[in-house]
Amino acid sequence: MPQMRVAVAGGGIAGLVLAVALRRAGIDCHVYEQAEHLTEVGAGVQVAPNASRLLRRLGLRDRLRSIAVAPQAIEMRRWDDGTLLQRTPLGEPCRRRFGAPYYTVHRADLHSSLLALLPPDRIHLGARCAAVSQDQDAARLHLSDGTVVAADLVVGADGIHSLVREQIVADRPRYSGQTIYRGLVPAERVRHLLDEPCVRLWFGPDQHCVCYPVSAGRQVSFGATVAASDWREESWSARGDVAELAAAYKGWHPDVVRLIGAADTVSRWALHDRDSIDRLSSGRVTVIGDAAHPMLPFQAQGANQAVEDAVVLAVCLAGAGSGGLEGALRRYERIRLPRVTRIQHQSRDNARTFHLDDGDEQHSRDAAARASSGLDHQQWLFGYDAEEAATTSRSPQWN
Ligand SMILES: Cc1cc2nc3c(=O)[nH]c(=O)nc-3n(C[C@H](O)[C@H](O)[C@H](O)COP(=O)(O)OP(=O)(O)OC[C@H]3O[C@@H](n4cnc5c(N)ncnc54)[C@H](O)[C@@H]3O)c2cc1C
Repeated sequence: MPQMRVAVAGGGIAGLVLAVALRRAGIDCHVYEQAEHLTEVGAGVQVAPNASRLLRRLGLRDRLRSIAVAPQAIEMRRWDDGTLLQRTPLGEPCRRRFGAPYYTVHRADLHSSLLALLPPDRIHLGARCAAVSQDQDAARLHLSDGTVVAADLVVGADGIHSLVREQIVADRPRYSGQTIYRGLVPAERVRHLLDEPCVRLWFGPDQHCVCYPVSAGRQVSFGATVAASDWREESWSARGDVAELAAAYKGWHPDVVRLIGAADTVSRWALHDRDSIDRLSSGRVTVIGDAAHPMLPFQAQGANQAVEDAVVLAVCLAGAGSGGLEGALRRYERIRLPRVTRIQHQSRDNARTFHLDDGDEQHSRDAAARASSGLDHQQWLFGYDAEEAATTSRSPQWN
């Protein structure tokens, strides 16, 4: 059989990890990215063991160690007095249990580390995909400059507003009613948060704040949600107003107030997701990452799931036997759908439970959180090995 050719629309984390994984599998892959310059801006990303184990195998073991922080715990606290509601130990206990670390990383560092694993002639910048077509023989990316790229498979890794997804389903992103302000603060301004490197969350009525160190501890990344029924802007770089954010968090715990006060600038982002779907492919076209299952960031798993998708798809394509491409895509979908659907739903549920008013329901939530401290409740999420699931073609197993 001639070598399979794959064309990927989108050079975010999903597209780049897929390109690296396909290269490892010996499959020819070109990435078409609309941006003129490839850089992930914006802030931090939490990389849980379910994705860090895959990234390490793809060649980022040493790189991750040098760019990332391995936080010691995830701590959830009350918004006003900072009472500890739940502590999930990370660090060494997490690495020992799951065989891979929990990391917090600056997005730009992760992005450039992935790019360094790819030959430059496989990444096409300023290449906006304007349409997709397919017939029995090929799938085609139609770029906005008129170029047509033919391949055996087109993969949409083009994010929440995916154009490639339109080949599979007619739906639209759904606004959650929540916006998030994101900022990066030099570590020396927030020493009070760094005695122990942790992912820290504070939950309160209608909103929550999360922060963690990135860039080998030189900076602290934070995200603070603010409910807004009328905000629609969605961009990493939309300017927010620090004073407006500070006003929204007035009266919160001093650690949160000091953190926000230490920021020079913030960006503001309207949070969207989409309903889950029951197929990920149509003919010679498939989707991965946010193009496949955009989720609210309230479980910090969107990028992690994009990494899992990319590795599973690469393994399925590499093993395409007698069933060929069609069989490989069916296998990819069968392995991925139950897991990503569950995580999408939980992320949406968290949008409500994170933001409860003080009262009975909040008391029950806090009691449940205290009872589930530890790593047991993360086994199904962090303990999952997507590559093994694909290699053995087993369905995902929920512990
Ligand atoms: C506030 C916030 C915090 C988050 N925190 C975490 C976290 O801690 N951990 C985690 O795992 N996830 C997190 N996520 C989710 C994570 O950011 C996303 O799931 C992840 O970035 C998706 O990657 P992607 O490559 O699928 O899509 P994207 O990052 O959106 O990349 C899509 C790429 O495709 C390009 N593109 C789009 N259209 C076209 C086109 N027509 N032609 C060519 N190129 C195109 C874009 O320019 C872009 O480069 C967070 C999300 C938000 C909003």
